[in-house]
Amino acid sequence: MENERKSPDDRQKMTDLERLRHSCAHVLASAIVKLWPDAQFAAGPPVENGFYYDVELSHRITPEDFPRIEEEMKRLVKANLPFERVVVTRDQALTDAQKGRLAALADRPSPSKFKLDILQGIPENEPISYYKSGEFIDLCAGPHVMRTGNVGAFKLTTVASAYYKGDERNPQLQRIYGTAFKNKTQLDEYFKMLEEAKKRDHRKIGAEMGLFALDAEFVGPGLPMWLPKGGAMLEELEKLAKETEFAAGYVRVKTPHIAREKMYLTSGHLPILYADSMFPPMDLAEDEPHQGDASKEPRHPAVNRYYLKAMNCPHHHRIFAAEPRSYLDLPLRLAEYGTCYRYEQSGELFGIMRVRSLNMNDAHIYCTEEQFAAEFNAVNEMYIKYFKIFGIEKYVMRFSTHDPSRLTGDNAKFVNEPELWKKTEDLVRKVLIESKIPYVEVPNEAAFYGPKIDVQVWSVIGREFTLATNQVDFAVPARFGLKYRDRDNSEKTPLCIHRAPLGTHERFIGFLIEHYAGNFPLWLAPEQVRVLTIGDEAPLVDYANAIVAELRAGFVRATADFSTNMINGKILDAEKARVHTMLVVGPRDMQSGAVSLRIHGKGNVGARPKADAVADILAAIRERRA
Ligand SMILES: [Zn+2]
Ligand SMILES: [Zn+2]
Repeated sequence: MENERKSPDDRQKMTDLERLRHSCAHVLASAIVKLWPDAQFAAGPPVENGFYYDVELSHRITPEDFPRIEEEMKRLVKANLPFERVVVTRDQALTDAQKGRLAALADRPSPSKFKLDILQGIPENEPISYYKSGEFIDLCAGPHVMRTGNVGAFKLTTVASAYYKGDERNPQLQRIYGTAFKNKTQLDEYFKMLEEAKKRDHRKIGAEMGLFALDAEFVGPGLPMWLPKGGAMLEELEKLAKETEFAAGYVRVKTPHIAREKMYLTSGHLPILYADSMFPPMDLAEDEPHQGDASKEPRHPAVNRYYLKAMNCPHHHRIFAAEPRSYLDLPLRLAEYGTCYRYEQSGELFGIMRVRSLNMNDAHIYCTEEQFAAEFNAVNEMYIKYFKIFGIEKYVMRFSTHDPSRLTGDNAKFVNEPELWKKTEDLVRKVLIESKIPYVEVPNEAAFYGPKIDVQVWSVIGREFTLATNQVDFAVPARFGLKYRDRDNSEKTPLCIHRAPLGTHERFIGFLIEHYAGNFPLWLAPEQVRVLTIGDEAPLVDYANAIVAELRAGFVRATADFSTNMINGKILDAEKARVHTMLVVGPRDMQSGAVSLRIHGKGNVGARPKADAVADILAAIRERRA
């Protein structure tokens, strides 16, 4: 949250790179105020991939100004000035702010108004500190790098506008973005990666390949439709999930897309917690059915409120409750590719990466405390298995825990169960350590009902994505009154693990498009095989049709190109459509019962007996070869 002031604890957790980038923001401000002495600065934090500084200035900064600002910044970096921390009294700070001395090189005619406001927001018990680099003094709690020279390589990237503290009633500021790295090599690599990411933009490749369509006018913004080729990919991913989950002992269920308000009041998503992320309710006047006695007159019509589901868990909880459960039924692993609807702000929507309808690779595992570690471990193993299939080599689990100071009171954020928090967090930590999966711990970001593990992966070009989330839930099963009968005949509440290793189709396919640049492995490719004939004599057409029929009998997505194009034209078309395997057949191939094989992006790989080529295609798909 941009307006939540970082606590001293949070500040200490800033990574080396964040310190470096934030320090670079000071260098930026120092350069700007040298060029435009009346500049008024607000906040200058590190952000994902860089930093920004908000500035109020009569001159409108444009990218044309960047070279001379950067020139001034380079001079400061070269001077290798120390970042000196100076602790001051509140009175001293107020006086300096009035004199315009904060985020400035000298006293100025007007006060440092935003710094003054920030100063007044600092709690009484916190020390007030300046950071001084050369003549530039800024009000800041740090931390920074030691000297300006530690800012190895930087670049200004964009300028946008932003309201002070994100509130449109406040003045509008210019937000100057930049990025910084330890050295020039890393900076260059970063910009190379961005350029590559642009070429692999999922919206561009998705349109070229005809995978999905967004129709804001008739269907609505953020509600993608899957075209046949994208639909083929969905089918393959679901098949993979179903096979994997079946082998791991999951059972499949199917639930409606809507539920009554009572469901979400019980889960705790309503009335407040999740209300902003749900579509508005539907009110329906309907007869109240009599429980179990259809012969009775229906009661007076009642207005019932329904919601589109934003998550599948509550439905699955009701499936758990639908039958009496004993310890012998546990662990119970309920899986469903469930469609959820989330109301994302229209400004947040982005291709198929940020959408309002999501097909989720969901499952909920109900288990006993004793079973938890093994179950959680098995979930992690499933992730690793998927990573191997998709060639994802770099990943990290982001383990979000609760903040013990936010269990009660006005800013309570987590279920008030201190012992359960400790127990489950310890369990999760232990499994993560023992499984040797790389992980980082992030306090204060758990779900309200239990610790959360976000899975971050890096695409082959080095861009980071959050693909999936696991959650441990020790609170909601109790809210739904879920019980199982234990060995000693006592009633107990199960733990629930939420997991979705393949995330949502929308986000996962968006990621895969970038990861593979649309050049999917054979098993996943929307169009797997195209037979290209050299000529159009009837026997050759028959030969090609027979190959297509044989492949389709093996569930291979195969077609033939009988257009009047010359063979080079047909090859070009197939390459453009990213068809994985091309089987070129001419009269001579037909006579010897052969095909000439071409692989997309690899070119001609030579002639093969037809039977061998077909067998190999079937095997590559079955094994999901890379
Ligand atoms: Zn600072
Ligand atoms: Zn869930």
